[in-house]
Amino acid sequence: MPIANGDSLDNFGMKAEIQDYSKALDVLKEYPTRDGLDVDTLIDSDKHGALTYNDFLILPGYIGFPASDVSLDTPVTKRITLKAPLLSSPMDTVTEHNMAIHMALLGGLGVIHHNCSPQDQAEMVKKVKRYENGFILDPVVLSPKATVGEAKNLKAKWGFGGFPVTENGTLRSKLVGIVTSRDIQFHHNLDDPVTAVMATDLVTAPAGTTLAEANDVLRSSKKGKLPIVDGDSNLVSLLSRSDLMKNLHYPLASKLPQSKQLICAATIGTREEDKERLRLLVEAGLDIVILDSSQGNSIFQLEMVKFVKKTYPEIDVIGGNVVTREQAAALIAAGVDGLRIGMGSGSACITQEVMAVGRPQAAAVRSVSSFAARFGVPCIADGGIQNVGHIVKGLAMGASTVMMGGLLAGTTESPGEYFVSSEGQLVKAYRGMGSIAAMEDKKAGAGSKDSKASNAGTARYFSEKDRVLVAQGVAGSVLDRGSITKFIPYLVAGIQHSLQEIGVKSIEAFHDEINKGLVRFEMRSASAQTEGNVHGLHNYEKKLYS
Ligand code: GDP
Ligand code: GDP
Ligand code: GDP
Ligand code: 5GP
Repeated sequence: MPIANGDSLDNFGMKAEIQDYSKALDVLKEYPTRDGLDVDTLIDSDKHGALTYNDFLILPGYIGFPASDVSLDTPVTKRITLKAPLLSSPMDTVTEHNMAIHMALLGGLGVIHHNCSPQDQAEMVKKVKRYENGFILDPVVLSPKATVGEAKNLKAKWGFGGFPVTENGTLRSKLVGIVTSRDIQFHHNLDDPVTAVMATDLVTAPAGTTLAEANDVLRSSKKGKLPIVDGDSNLVSLLSRSDLMKNLHYPLASKLPQSKQLICAATIGTREEDKERLRLLVEAGLDIVILDSSQGNSIFQLEMVKFVKKTYPEIDVIGGNVVTREQAAALIAAGVDGLRIGMGSGSACITQEVMAVGRPQAAAVRSVSSFAARFGVPCIADGGIQNVGHIVKGLAMGASTVMMGGLLAGTTESPGEYFVSSEGQLVKAYRGMGSIAAMEDKKAGAGSKDSKASNAGTARYFSEKDRVLVAQGVAGSVLDRGSITKFIPYLVAGIQHSLQEIGVKSIEAFHDEINKGLVRFEMRSASAQTEGNVHGLHNYEKKLYS
C-alpha cells in the first residue's frame, strides 16, 4: 500500500513510542550496555568454543576524522616502536635481506630467518643495517694503492661505489680524495690505482656538525657524498645524498633515532650453538632477536632469554611462540621484551592436525595479550592473516603487531623466483618451516637432519636425535602479489580505513576502548559468514587496490 501524503506511520500499526526525535541520544543512555558484545563476552569460550578471526565482526562506531589521521604507531618490543603494525615471518620463502629492507622502509619489520649458516644470516643483517644511514660511522675506505678493479669489486659486493681514499686506507687517517661510481664506471684499465681517477677537490664538514647541518651542506654542495673530517683532516664519517632521498621517500621507515639505520630483527634457535650465531648477528648490528620455537615455554628458551638479556642488554628479545597465559607468564618472568602468539594457525601449517596441540588464533591472541599488557609486554599475532580484516581483528584481540608469512610470500621482495604453475598462473614457492622439504633442505649446511640441526631454522620442529621427521607444515606455492612497495601501503591504508569505521584514531585508542567495553563485537553465524562474502554473482573480479 503506498504512503499517501499526510498519512502517519500509525496507519501501518507502527505507533511511535517517542515522538520527539531529538531525544534519541538520551534514550540510548537508558540501555545498560552498548549494542553488541564486549570483548570478554565475545571471547568467552564457555558459550561457543574458542574463536578465530572469521567467527566475529567489529561493530562500527562514529567517524569524526579522516582515515589519513589514524595513527598506526605501535610497539613491537618494550623499547622499539613501529609506524605500521606489520611484520614478515622468519621463513626461508618469506624474509631475507631484501624483504627486511623493504618492510622496514615501509614502516614495518622483516624478521630474517635462520635456515642458513650463521655467516649468511649475519651478512643479511649487515645489508639491512647498511642500507640507510645518517652519519656512516664505518664507511668502506680505500688506500691510495687500491686499484680501480678493487673498487669495482667492492661496488659489486656492497651495491654502493662512493669510497673515501685515506692515506693508510682506514678511517681516522688523512683524507686524500674520493672515488665514486662515475669515476670508475668507464675506466677500463683495472690495474690503475684509484688515485688516477679520484676527485681531490672535496667539500667536507668538520666533526661535531649536527646531522641536520651536515645534510644542509650536502644539499648545497650538490655532491653525492660529504666526508666529515676532524681538525687534522682525518676522515671520521661519511654522509650520502641518497640517504636524504630515502628519508624523503619513506617517511614511515622503521629507523633508530640516532643512527637513522633501519631496525633489523632475526631469529635464532635455543641450542648452545645459537649463542655463537647470535654473537655474529649482534656484531652485524642486530636490534631484535626472536627465539624461534613452536612451543616457547621450554627450559631451553627460558635459559636463552636470560642469557641474551645478560650478555646483550642492548638487544631486545622476543619469546614464543605461545598461546596460553601460563606459557606467557614463564617467558615474561624470564625477561622477554615481546611475545609472539600462534600455534597451528599458519597457512602452511599442520601442527593442530598432527600434534593435537594449538589454539584458535583469536582466542590465543586475546588470552596472551590481555595478560602480557599488564606487564607492558607487546604481542605479535603470528599466522592466519589472509586479509586486512584479519590484521584489524588480531589488533582487536590485543596484539600490537601482526606477522604474515603466506600473504607476503608471493611478492617481488620474497626470496626465490616466480614460476608458472600447472594452471598457467604466476606463483612463488611457499613452505612451512616444519615441512619435510624445509627440514631436508641442506642449504649452506643447515636444515638437514643429518647436518647440524641446531644451525637450522627448522630446528624448532625436530631434534637431532629424532630418527623420523614428523612434518608440521606443508610445501606449496602462492600467487604473485607484486611488490610490497604497493602491497604494504595498501594494508596500511586498509587498516586506517577500518579503524576509522570503528571510530578510533590510533591502535592505542583501539586497545583502550576495547578494554573499556566501548568498541563492540558480534559473533558471526555460518550463514552470516556466507552473507559477508561476495555471493550470488555470476562472475566477478576481486581487485583489492589500485
Ligand atoms: P654510491 O653513490 O655508489 O656510493 O651509492 P649510493 O649513494 O646510491 O648509495 C649509498 C648507500 O649505501 C647510502 O644509503 C649509504 O648510507 C649506504 N652505505 C652504507 N655503508 C656505506 C659505505 O660504507 N659507503 C657508502 N658510500 N655508502 C654506504
Ligand atoms: P625527519 O626529518 O622527520 O626524519 O626528522 P628526524 O628528527 O628523524 O631527523 C633529524 C634530521 O636528520 C633531519 O635533518 C633529517 O633530514 C635527517 N635525517 C633523517 N633520516 C635521515 C637519514 O636516513 N639520513 C640522513 N642523512 N639524514 C636523515
Ligand atoms: P619446538 O619443537 O618448535 O619447540 O622447537 P625447539 O627448537 O625449541 O625444539 C626442538 C627440539 O629440540 C625439541 O625437542 C626441544 O625440546 C629440543 N631442544 C631445543 N633446544 C634445546 C637445547 O638447547 N638442548 C637440547 N638438548 N634440546 C633442545
Ligand atoms: P601465515 O601468515 O602463512 O598464515 O603463517 C605464518 C606463520 O606460520 C609463521 O610466522 C610461523 O609462525 C608459522 N609457521 C611457519 N612454518 C610452519 C610450519 O611448518 N608449521 C607450523 N606449525 N607453523 C609454521
